[in-house]
Amino acid sequence: MSQQGYCAAPPYSQSQPRTGGFPTSFGPPNPSLHYGHYGDPNSSYAVPQPGPGATLSSHTSSGHPASFQGPQPTLLTQQQMALPPGSQVPPPANNFSGLSAQPSLPTMARQDGIPGSGPPNPNLQQLPGQPPGPGYHPQQANYGPQMAGSQLSYPGAFPGGPAQLSGPQQKKLDPDSIPSPIQVIENDKASRGGQIYATNTRGQVPPLVTTDCVIQDQGHASPRYIRCTTYCFPSSSDMAKQAHIPLAAVIQPFAVVPQNETPLYVVNHGETGPIRCNRCKAYMCPFMQFTEGGRRYQCGFCNCVNDVPPFFFQHLDHIGRRVDHYERPELSLGSYEYVATLDYCRNNKPPNPPAYIFMIDVSYRNINSGLVKLICEELKTLLDKLPREEQEESSAIRVGFVTYNKVLHFFNVKSNLAQPQMMVVSDVREVFVPLLDGFLVNFQESRSVVNNLLDQIPEMFADTNESETIFAPVIQAGMEALKAAECAGKLFIFHSSLPTAEAPGKLRNRDDKKLLNTDKEKTLFQPQVNYYETLARDCVANSCCVNLFLFPNQYVDIASLGLVTMYTGGTLYKYNNFQLNSDSPQFLTDLRKDIEKKTGFDAIMRVRTSTGFRATDFFGAIYMNNTTDVEMAAVDCDKAVTVEFKHDDKLNEDSGALIQCAVLYTSISGQRRLRIHNIGLNCSSQLADVYKTCETDALINFLAKSAFKAILSQPLKTVREILVNQMAHMLACYRKNCASPSAVSQLILPDAMKVLPVYMNSLLKSCVLVGRPEIPTDERAYHRQLVMAMGVADTQLFFYPQLLPIHSLDLKSDAVPAAIRCSEERLSEGGAFILANGLSMFLWLGVSTPPELIQGLFNVPSFAHISTEATLLPDLDNPYSKKVKSIMEHIQSQKPYTMKLMIVKQREQPEMLFHQFLVEDKSIYGGASYVDFLCCVHKEICQLLN
Ligand SMILES: [Zn+2]
Repeated sequence: MSQQGYCAAPPYSQSQPRTGGFPTSFGPPNPSLHYGHYGDPNSSYAVPQPGPGATLSSHTSSGHPASFQGPQPTLLTQQQMALPPGSQVPPPANNFSGLSAQPSLPTMARQDGIPGSGPPNPNLQQLPGQPPGPGYHPQQANYGPQMAGSQLSYPGAFPGGPAQLSGPQQKKLDPDSIPSPIQVIENDKASRGGQIYATNTRGQVPPLVTTDCVIQDQGHASPRYIRCTTYCFPSSSDMAKQAHIPLAAVIQPFAVVPQNETPLYVVNHGETGPIRCNRCKAYMCPFMQFTEGGRRYQCGFCNCVNDVPPFFFQHLDHIGRRVDHYERPELSLGSYEYVATLDYCRNNKPPNPPAYIFMIDVSYRNINSGLVKLICEELKTLLDKLPREEQEESSAIRVGFVTYNKVLHFFNVKSNLAQPQMMVVSDVREVFVPLLDGFLVNFQESRSVVNNLLDQIPEMFADTNESETIFAPVIQAGMEALKAAECAGKLFIFHSSLPTAEAPGKLRNRDDKKLLNTDKEKTLFQPQVNYYETLARDCVANSCCVNLFLFPNQYVDIASLGLVTMYTGGTLYKYNNFQLNSDSPQFLTDLRKDIEKKTGFDAIMRVRTSTGFRATDFFGAIYMNNTTDVEMAAVDCDKAVTVEFKHDDKLNEDSGALIQCAVLYTSISGQRRLRIHNIGLNCSSQLADVYKTCETDALINFLAKSAFKAILSQPLKTVREILVNQMAHMLACYRKNCASPSAVSQLILPDAMKVLPVYMNSLLKSCVLVGRPEIPTDERAYHRQLVMAMGVADTQLFFYPQLLPIHSLDLKSDAVPAAIRCSEERLSEGGAFILANGLSMFLWLGVSTPPELIQGLFNVPSFAHISTEATLLPDLDNPYSKKVKSIMEHIQSQKPYTMKLMIVKQREQPEMLFHQFLVEDKSIYGGASYVDFLCCVHKEICQLLN
């Protein structure tokens, strides 16, 4: 039975041939069938025995049992402070015993690290510069028994719920007393930020992805490369099924490391190549145990005992460690690279350096909008910035140029030509490459011809009235060119419209709002014709990565066009209704970043595990021909592959759960290399150990990707239900097995998962999972595709945007102000706020924003004078402007997509759009507020426990 229960065989599966080999991986689609093992109400309240390692201090509140076991429902998380008896609020007169199954009435017992008790002081949680919002003014002492008392007013939500209650207890749940993502983020920053985090301990939970620290590789891969949903795996499959916690690793093999961290060492064993276990083929790593005086080693993955090759022999010291332990990266580090030998190359030949091919749609609209000219101008400078190895003077990457509308135009830009030459391919049914010599060139050598061409292209098509375009043949042409040149590479395709011209992969507008919320809605996310899947497979086979820059004015069928991009490890960019003046900066920054990105080409990734468990499912911008090899025509620094693991035996608590990810790839200079990342996790037979080491950010990454994959084959409603169910099961299992006994009406969340509900609610409200006629289908397909390739930091920000107050900045400090919770209640008329989620950035201005701030940022005298047309703040020479711009740059610098700035004035129409990003609030599309959702989750948990 599946933990997440998706019936995950996609209609055009990436791993078709053998996915059937894991029938047990996929549960039936009906979630109600999955979770029978909680059914016995009598067993639910067997007194739990917390594991020896569990930190249940807050929960072992046996000294004050009454504090938490009154008849009132209460909400606790595991971090809860034991309250002195005096602080307890007497239970209300109502007898709630009959409401034990109506957990929509949780009362709050707050903890979140607020020490002591006494009357709650809501200001404690207030962050600097944040005005008190409605509802938690300090004077409102009767607000509650926030520690244990206020009840939820949630009229109509649940029959028999608080709507029927009367009297003073009928108060809305205080948002300040439910777990705050900001508090969690800030607490982690306070305790671990700015420090050195050494990866020397197996199963150690790293700092949150939002915490800045310096990571030192001491034997396990940096969390920049691998993050896990839990750092302690359940020792048995039964236990894993009981907990319903996904066991997954999010691997970002080419993640950028900051300047102050050590780049990967490269190990070169010459012709011998990397040392590998004879049986399981794992690479030499810190998990290999040397024996017999150093003559043999036992593989940590399969336990096979191997001979040490003579050239690699070394004596052992008194603790059995090789004396050269610290001199060899492959013995002492979590991550390193090997130079690969010819055995690891296609056809046993060293690879050629990769090539980039620029393919520009020169149909009427792109010429007319000035886009073609913009691209050509920019390329002249960008081509000097192609990535190169640090020790090399210039880039080894070759470049080629194609333009197209209904036909294809190839250009010969050989360095000895006076003028570029154009060759037209009008038979688009079976594209061939009309020239080999002179198509892919070194930019330095052909600079004048290439620049000449880039000058001429806009002129050449200036009079075009061709409005129809082809698309699939463009990719085909690029791929054939790479194939003919026997190299890997990237296509940069700049495209605007639905490809309606007569050609393979021709598409029609099949967008149909009537399909929303029906069983057929999933077809909107599937490619319209099979051709694109075949094309994707061919591209991967020829290591052709497709980057797609889309400039649509209307539906272009991203589910079809983006498929090849997705399967080839490419990146999709989209600029709706592109306007040269306002959108060029965003597009050009994206293009520049993409061209400069460090990338691995012709990559194949393999994830090996120690005995007892294995990788069963993979999510990302990847292609799979079989069940084990993850193929990526290219993989760049921002792409992450999320890997799910399942047990196939018991795990050994002593040896732990070891994971080795090996990526074989061709470097930008054409060197074949292996990048190895190793990480060791703990194993335990105590559920509490598993819960204690969970990482919510990684969990959400996994849950989002698995749900976004599942929508290809299942109704969205089912997918949403499964998500809620799975979370409820995780939390109920904790409650049942790890928490000390308490009234069923208490909501108890494990400390490491206490913000899971708020993130989950945001995921459920994502436009991908919510079918509404107002949301364009292409937008949904676009978000789906982006999230599938995201790493943990990107999904964290995407599902819980950063909201920063900027009206109370400390202009002398370099620090970015502390974020506040994403809710309208946290905004204020007198404030200004930046909101960013990795794709969009907003500057929201309250109607009473101080005039000096307005003057400082916009150089206009008042709120009324601010134009919301601008997509950039003006460059002004004053401290406000400089500070706010530097904050925006800081947010942007860490994100793969350039965020276009939108200026939103309070109570003006575009505010609606902004409000969708306030993910703690009820969504205009019907998604629940955080408070309401928490109540629903509580209800689900209670049902499971009953
Ligand atoms: Zn082995």
